[in-house]
Amino acid sequence: MKREVWIIGAGPVGLLLAHLLHQKGFRIHLFEKRAKVPALSMAIGITPPSLNILATLGLRDAFESQGILIRRARVFENQTPLGSLGFEQAGDHILSLPQRQTLRLLRTSLTKLPDVIFHENEPFRLNSTVPDTMRVIGCDGYRSTVRQRAGISLKEKTYAQKFFMADFEDIENAGPDARLFFSPRGSVESFPLPGHLRRWVVQVLPGQSSEVSHLIERVRDASGVNLAGVPHGTPGCFIPRRGLASHFHRGPFILCGDAAHQLSPIGGQGMNTGFADAYQLAEALADPHPRALDIWTKHRKQAFNQAATRAALGMKLGTLTGNPASRFRTQILRVLLHEPHCAKTLSRSYAMLNLPHPVKA
Ligand SMILES: Cc1cc2nc3c(=O)[nH]c(=O)nc-3n(C[C@H](O)[C@H](O)[C@H](O)COP(=O)(O)OP(=O)(O)OC[C@H]3O[C@@H](n4cnc5c(N)ncnc54)[C@H](O)[C@@H]3O)c2cc1C
Repeated sequence: MKREVWIIGAGPVGLLLAHLLHQKGFRIHLFEKRAKVPALSMAIGITPPSLNILATLGLRDAFESQGILIRRARVFENQTPLGSLGFEQAGDHILSLPQRQTLRLLRTSLTKLPDVIFHENEPFRLNSTVPDTMRVIGCDGYRSTVRQRAGISLKEKTYAQKFFMADFEDIENAGPDARLFFSPRGSVESFPLPGHLRRWVVQVLPGQSSEVSHLIERVRDASGVNLAGVPHGTPGCFIPRRGLASHFHRGPFILCGDAAHQLSPIGGQGMNTGFADAYQLAEALADPHPRALDIWTKHRKQAFNQAATRAALGMKLGTLTGNPASRFRTQILRVLLHEPHCAKTLSRSYAMLNLPHPVKA
């Protein structure tokens, strides 16, 4: 008899976990409340440890063939180049692929797994009946019903910063580099996307509007790029938050990905942290050690805390405004980008290569 589990939520983490548990010989029921893949593209950066996990499933080539390999981030202050951060120093690259494409690739590959039963358009509810002895893994995101059902609390805070993002055609042929523009008037970031597009993310200061016209104006001011045409997909605003569940498992319930924790999207590590949770959870569930889940929780909380603290520090530095603060940032960035040891540590940090308890894929 195969061991059975329920996974609640077919976001990127739930889909990946279904693959990983299938590989370990489990039979999986995967429940998703939505009827189709959401159009919103949130995560775009897939870091080297996540690519290694995809490699263990034979999926890395399929992902890389659809995305853009980012090997370098170029940094500017007031349109003046300050330096660049090479991810090859960290031994690899970051893959840019919109989250909806990640979902589609994982869903397509799921259809080839005989022991995954996908229940689409079937929400798990607070009063859903759970069979005795069944493990229920909540991969159901920030507002997790599984977390509520398990009576697990979430400690969270919302940051003061606010951002607006939109995808535009790459009219300047900027190529595959990420580009970060800092200025006393706020940060602007630009990332390559498949389909000759770029994602632009601008900081929205108090009193400023969250509209495409404001984004276009901020991009012109910070980078000199005149965006043309209308955005592709749905532009959106986001306010970063940090959250951590008090427990990652209780009784039959386990939390994984955003259901267990959230970190600032600036720095692009939320989904990747969830992927590492999933990889190590599959190992823990296959491990007969009685404390395997406690050890998994301890390791994943440590990794989350480190990633979330770095994301918060990066966001804090990048969003400093006003002339004195900008000059301070420029001095720090010059050291970080030009002192070889600092540059290597920084690129390994962005590539998530120096977190504790690395994925041994
Ligand atoms: C603007 C933005 C940019 C980001 N960029 C990056 C990035 O570059 N890199 C990165 O690593 N991360 C990034 N993130 C974070 C990343 O998007 C999330 O960490 C990731 O989506 C979490 O995946 P998840 O599967 O845990 O949860 P979710 O993506 O939230 O998926 C949860 C799934 O569960 C389903 N569900 C919910 N409730 C139920 C229920 N009761 N029953 C059944 N199904 C249910 C939902 O429909 C959904 O499909 C970004 C986030 C934002 C907002």
